[in-house]
Amino acid sequence: MLLGVRAVPLSLPVRHAGPAGAARRPAGHPAPVAGRAAVSAIDVGPILAPPPPLGSKELAARTEALRILNEDQVRDCTKCQLAKTRTKTVFGQGSPTARIVFVGEAPGHDEDLQGLAFVGRAGQLLTKMIEAMGLTRDQVFICNVLKCRPPNNRDPAPEEVSACWPYLDQQLKILRPQVIVALGKPASQTLLRTQEGISRLRGQWHDYHIGGLEGGGETIPLMPTYHPAYLLRSPGEKTKAWGDLKQVMAKLGLKEPQRHRPAPSPP
Ligand code: URA
Ligand code: SF4
Repeated sequence: MLLGVRAVPLSLPVRHAGPAGAARRPAGHPAPVAGRAAVSAIDVGPILAPPPPLGSKELAARTEALRILNEDQVRDCTKCQLAKTRTKTVFGQGSPTARIVFVGEAPGHDEDLQGLAFVGRAGQLLTKMIEAMGLTRDQVFICNVLKCRPPNNRDPAPEEVSACWPYLDQQLKILRPQVIVALGKPASQTLLRTQEGISRLRGQWHDYHIGGLEGGGETIPLMPTYHPAYLLRSPGEKTKAWGDLKQVMAKLGLKEPQRHRPAPSPP
């Protein structure tokens, strides 16, 4: 099925010179949270029905709130040093009514040039992951913790994460997705305010607290999983990532799409 599990392995190149998804130093919110009790892999909690469709006024208001955040705040932001080296800010893109928001680490080379999130090689694998869930990129929302590329894809610095994280929090507050998927260690650690490693965080449900842990109690279920750039380097871990995404599908009541096997090629 997906990601080389039980079927055709993805044909993307395995080596990736871009940002490492796994071997990152802790992001900018160092206060660790207490360890959570382990949740069994099949226990997804209550299944979340699709939210009622937004009225046209609400949809317009949401779209406008995102546009204003992007155009009035992010696009010309100089809150951290990355403003000096970026080509374009990368706000993120997708549906304003997405049930799932995918959050990566920071734009890479291609994203910096195009101003779009996850359009390089890691992005191509993310597209396959989303499609294996029976969805399209247009149906979800895709963004990053940092809106500007760190030079040479170096690790995000804690002060950069602290400066930029409020934009992501605002996005999540506007979008109110039913589930957040945090891709890789920096995104997971930033969103959960923990220093726990990705191998321990992934595969279990956590809560994202809108406005931070002090922010007033509203939470969104969050599933950490491996970053697609890491999966390109470590394809053996795709099985685990697919298991994480299947938990997301189960929580949202999404069925795995039927796949047509390609006809065998002639000898
Ligand atoms: N890696 C990320 O974390 N985000 C992107 O947008 C591209 C690569
Ligand atoms: Fe502003 Fe974030 Fe870019 Fe820093 S990374 S300049 S905080 S948009």
